[in-house]
Amino acid sequence: MLKIYNSLTKQKESFEPLDQNHIKYYSCGPTVYNRIHIGNARAFICADLLAKVLKGIYPKVTYVSNITDIDDKIIEAAKEEKVSIKDISNKYFNIYLEDLESLGINKPDLQPFATDYINEMIDYIEKLIDSNNAYIHEGNVLFDTTKFKNYGCLSGRNLDEQKAGERVNLETYKRNVNDFTLWKPSNNGEPGWESPWGFGRPGWHLECSVMSELTLNIPFDIHGGGNDLKFPHHDNEIAQTCAYHGSSEPQDFARYWFHNGFLNLDNEKMSKSLGNVVYLEDLLDVYDGNQIRLALLSTHYRQPIPWNKTLLEQAKTVSKKINKFTKDLNLTPKFNVDTLIAQDLLDDLNTPKAIATIQKLIQSPSNNIESELETFQYIFEGSKHKVRLDDNKISEIEKLIKERDIARKNGNYDQADEIRDKLTKMNVIIEDINGKTVWKI
Ligand SMILES: [Zn+2]
Repeated sequence: MLKIYNSLTKQKESFEPLDQNHIKYYSCGPTVYNRIHIGNARAFICADLLAKVLKGIYPKVTYVSNITDIDDKIIEAAKEEKVSIKDISNKYFNIYLEDLESLGINKPDLQPFATDYINEMIDYIEKLIDSNNAYIHEGNVLFDTTKFKNYGCLSGRNLDEQKAGERVNLETYKRNVNDFTLWKPSNNGEPGWESPWGFGRPGWHLECSVMSELTLNIPFDIHGGGNDLKFPHHDNEIAQTCAYHGSSEPQDFARYWFHNGFLNLDNEKMSKSLGNVVYLEDLLDVYDGNQIRLALLSTHYRQPIPWNKTLLEQAKTVSKKINKFTKDLNLTPKFNVDTLIAQDLLDDLNTPKAIATIQKLIQSPSNNIESELETFQYIFEGSKHKVRLDDNKISEIEKLIKERDIARKNGNYDQADEIRDKLTKMNVIIEDINGKTVWKI
């Protein structure tokens, strides 16, 4: 019934669950050290989209998404804020939950924390060493990628090609260029745990192999994450899990691999180093949660989203049109399989087609319109978040910014400063970036 693109076989397939009565799905979750930006939000919304469709058609679904609460970035953030790593991860975990809610993303059924599984990870590493799949070097334990013959099968990377090209950069203790850290020493007051290889902490890739197996058992149905996780993260997960169980078949770990595309700002990949990160909390000032949700789902999950204001404005218009139509109806959001909207979604989660379908339907409603709208609401409208600023206030702010730009262009700096003060009094923070003025509340 459900067709889904499998990144492992690189084709759209009919989804055949291992057990029709219980679907098991794991998706890589956040490293909790920072507020989420709109690119993160896309990954979480795509993961939620699949979970919602699965829950719409199967009686029981267990959706697991891990929380990485030990990582170099967290250690760095803790140092900067002069607090413990637990303080950082707790703080940003709670913010992450709020952000999910604001976009109508349901909480995953299980959210295992990496630091709750340290003993299990140590046992796992010991078995990998005993079976000759991992080796020790001065407090480090590394996975030997040449021991897994299908290494790179998900991303399609060729191991030999990489070796030849990248050997120059080989760290001295690595036997092969792709070998990755299972355990590393913690020095100079860094947080860590006692282990047979000394005081240290696990490498990032390990937690997903350990926690997915302990929460879902293997093989499970679907493993997901952003496209950027295919290599090395997911290829490493496959290698560890298969090596641990003496298998060479990636499908002994997870049957289907589900990956979402990037989010590009004005056709440029969003990244901190480019200074073009858009934080969700800023967008929530000016758009309803459901409008942002609709904008994020207006592109098919596998395609890159060209993220810009026009996309958000279009989503806002569509959302208002639908709300106007539904406001007097008594609807219960649910997945009605016999609707056109459901059929669009069952075909590899074709959200842009479903959005087009609902717009056609409200123009010339069929008898089944309520059932269609319920399905639409179930997928596209889970958020209760309302915009923090109304349209009038936004136009007022934008008008003042325009006046300030003109004043500056004409050399009227006193007037420009006056306008800036006025904006500050309205709690608007403005910043001049690359000749453009951006603002937030
Ligand atoms: Zn993972």
